[in-house]
Amino acid sequence: MSIVDTISCSHCGAPISFNPGEIIATCRYCGYTVVIQTGKAFTFEHSMLLNEYDQRQIEEVIRNWMRSGFLKPSDLARKSKLTEKTLVYVPFWVVTAKVETAYKGVFERITPPVVKEGRIAKEYDWLVLARKATEFPTREYDVPLEGKIPYDFRRIEGFAKTLNSEIDKDEAVERAKQEIEEHHRHLASQDVDKVIEIKNEINVSQTVYLHAPIWFIKYDYEGKTYQLYVDGATGAVIKGDIPPAKFGIL
Ligand SMILES: [Zn+2]
Repeated sequence: MSIVDTISCSHCGAPISFNPGEIIATCRYCGYTVVIQTGKAFTFEHSMLLNEYDQRQIEEVIRNWMRSGFLKPSDLARKSKLTEKTLVYVPFWVVTAKVETAYKGVFERITPPVVKEGRIAKEYDWLVLARKATEFPTREYDVPLEGKIPYDFRRIEGFAKTLNSEIDKDEAVERAKQEIEEHHRHLASQDVDKVIEIKNEINVSQTVYLHAPIWFIKYDYEGKTYQLYVDGATGAVIKGDIPPAKFGIL
């Protein structure tokens, strides 16, 4: 990654470096978080989750994952070689919202088809990845929000990498709303066969900027590279590539 620019931290004076496209940056030396464009302090809640694993412990977590589950090759744990173990504090926006959906649709599973109405009421801590090109399985990540604490740069390990936000609060809220609407359209379409009318009322009560510790793992197995995302707070494998199991007698 090439560093293209720096501004000086208005809290401690250290240089804060950032990449193109990043709009919120955090000082590595004092934890001060700044909106790059204005140079002003970031004033919304900034939280973090704590990583509970070191490089050796995370390897154990991965080996255990490799050993469990019948869909994996039986020699996976033994024969895999970990080629990358990077702890990254990934930025997210957590959009807390109450959602009420009213829909109308045609229920075609009976003859004659009938028009049916329904309502869906839900509450979410909806997660929006604050990066544009970073690949991450956001929808599969069950973020352990109960462990969140105010952002504290002293808790960031020296070997870890911290990514800055490329998405501002308003954009995050917009995205969350879009994704929630899509999700509710999907829920409605499980109840009726053809949705003809849908109305969502989304009330956002809180938006928090959150850095979450994620281990980006790569491993080689029989000449191919596979990827894993592991939650550093809980040790849960968020998503993991599995080589095809070998059938027959090994
Ligand atoms: Zn600073």
